[in-house]
Amino acid sequence: MAKTVTLADGTKLPALGMGTWNMGESSATWKEEVASLRHGVEAGLKVVDTAEMYGQGRSESLVGEALRDVRNDVFLVTKVLPSNASAEGVAKACRSSLRRLGTDRIDLYLLHWRGSVPLAETIDAFRKLKEDGLIRYWGVSNFDVEDMLELERYSRSCECAANQILYSLEHRGVEYDLLDTNRFRHVMTMAYSPIGQGGALLRNTALRTVAARHTTAHGQASPAQIALAWVLRMDNVMPIPKAGSLAHLKDNVAAQDITLTEQDLADLDAAFPPPASKTPLEMI
Ligand code: NDP
Repeated sequence: MAKTVTLADGTKLPALGMGTWNMGESSATWKEEVASLRHGVEAGLKVVDTAEMYGQGRSESLVGEALRDVRNDVFLVTKVLPSNASAEGVAKACRSSLRRLGTDRIDLYLLHWRGSVPLAETIDAFRKLKEDGLIRYWGVSNFDVEDMLELERYSRSCECAANQILYSLEHRGVEYDLLDTNRFRHVMTMAYSPIGQGGALLRNTALRTVAARHTTAHGQASPAQIALAWVLRMDNVMPIPKAGSLAHLKDNVAAQDITLTEQDLADLDAAFPPPASKTPLEMI
């Protein structure tokens, strides 16, 4: 059975989600991106992450088009920009996102990163949206430990459902404190850019060596699958890789079948050492 994560109220979600940054940018790739997201839902993935910022709404529009007729099988996550995080701004931005997504509710609404609007004001605005039935849960993104502690001053226990942060083999600083900070508060961690945006990480020798030791139902494991399996093994952490191509999406779905051995983990630790001290949260 596919791994799950659990929200503070006990709701379970498949641990592997789908990202959509840079989707919807070109008519040449639109069809395949739609097909990729639809295939993901058919394969049992449920969480789709987007943001009003991505392509100035084009990613949300693509997600809306792709998933309208399977809306009830999907857990939709979108984000409000810090520049829209005032009481009035949140209310307006949420309605614009709903329109582009072609739905009457957002499952999880995140503050994309911290800006100048007082946190208490944004939280109150989220509460109002929840009361009005426009969002089911709210959360944050790019919040480090200090931000989470500040958030606690203005919110009730278990009110913040998730913290979406940069986490991958290349960016392990959060293992020092932030992952536990989230976990102890029942805040689900969403790991963004889990395969290093398809860049240098996937060419890493140690990662390739580990990949060569594994197979999936589709054949030889890829470095991207190992990078994903590595994040998936963590407790209550949801990686949200973006795959615009169907082949990549299928690869990512199959990564759920990979179990890394002690030797694999030791080799990956040697190549990507865990943090020995506090490092400020990195952000893309
Ligand atoms: P990812 O680490 O998910 O990498 C995406 C890139 O990897 C794409 O170029 C994709 O190619 C490629 N890829 C996907 N699957 C495979 C595979 N199996 N093998 C080889 N290459 C693959 O980076 P993102 O930055 O997109 O992060 C994921 C998501 O996290 C975003 O899409 C977004 O939803 C969210 N995010 C949130 C942020 C925040 O501030 N809250 C910041 C950054 C991201 P292709 O598309 O061609 O298939």
